[in-house]
Amino acid sequence: MLASLLTLGLAAAPPPDYDAAAYERCLARLESHAAGQGISRSTFNAHVRGVEPDTSVLALLDQQPEFRTEIWDYLAGLVDGERVEDGKAMLARHASTLARVEEAYGVDPETVVAVWGVESDFGGTFGKRPLLQSLATLSCMGRRQAFFRGELVATLHILQDGDVRAGDLVGSWAGAFGHTQFMPSTYRRIAVDFDGDGRRDLVGSIPDALASTANYLKRSGWQSGQPWGHEVKLPAGFNTSLAGRTSRRPLSDWIDLGVTRVDGMPIPRADTRSALLLPAGREGPAWIVFRNFDAIYSYNAAESYALAIALLADRLRGKSGPVAPWPTEDPGLSRAERRELQRLLIARGHDIGEVDGILGSASRAAVRAEQERLGMAADGRAGKRLLRALAVPAPGL
Ligand code: CA
Repeated sequence: MLASLLTLGLAAAPPPDYDAAAYERCLARLESHAAGQGISRSTFNAHVRGVEPDTSVLALLDQQPEFRTEIWDYLAGLVDGERVEDGKAMLARHASTLARVEEAYGVDPETVVAVWGVESDFGGTFGKRPLLQSLATLSCMGRRQAFFRGELVATLHILQDGDVRAGDLVGSWAGAFGHTQFMPSTYRRIAVDFDGDGRRDLVGSIPDALASTANYLKRSGWQSGQPWGHEVKLPAGFNTSLAGRTSRRPLSDWIDLGVTRVDGMPIPRADTRSALLLPAGREGPAWIVFRNFDAIYSYNAAESYALAIALLADRLRGKSGPVAPWPTEDPGLSRAERRELQRLLIARGHDIGEVDGILGSASRAAVRAEQERLGMAADGRAGKRLLRALAVPAPGL
């Protein structure tokens, strides 16, 4: 959840000051609020009493994206060769668990592994912020205190139930954590103990995490054995105002409108509920999507996010990416290419911190400087064109 936020370039503001006495009073109120929800005094005292606020999360709560990330850049980083290879390795390594998960929840291994890959890079990136500190801060300061109070109480229930150790509770600034990056309230509703040790542990147990992901999709209306969608071609003059995930029609309507599959397979004349997705408008790839796409969408409420998972799952099934090209002459960069770009920026003297494949504000500033030097539009967006230009050694390097 909230994975899409992590991939955007975001401008950070300095942490605001806070009123220590008001924070203490808030913690006292939180204790009685939590007690009313079944949290014991000892649980509260052990985990929240004395927790210092981390006001840097308030800046993250209010930040705005630095600029719009194009869909092809977003997908180039999430559905890249590395994630496909890692995903195939995970399919093999956890084959028996995934088969049991499919039997129990009806969700295929490729979809479950694709969610895992996009949410936490198969357990590689959980987030680093202490959850209780972030949630205590956000429960007492900022503009969504009631929401975060609910998440704090849910976290305390997870601890009180003995599902997760307190030391394992690190995650995103907003509280998503573990292999599946569930928010604590989602965790309480959806997480399952699949390895049978009596604990629902989405940090320490991969079987619990994979089964919980499948359980989430099942509860979101997953239809076993059905496709998420098909890439399609539109006839000339097609009325694109019919597109949109929530503009659902019977599948036979699209046939009548002249829509065909790019792979030449027939579209069945059925009343299956379906919608047309044009993520980059008329000129980019088009998909007819079904109910399973909506189930994936519900995980993070972003179409780009759902498409990343759906396309990664297809790649794990051995299919290729979209047939139609994205409407750009300067395609986006994979994570390996982003790391290469960062190494080239460092070689040219830019102080951008670690080579991590994440193009944050320091990398963007360096990209702008190089674009200016090269006579390109200085928009801070890095594509293959800039990478190629920088790969040519500069004089004196
Ligand atoms: Ca377990």
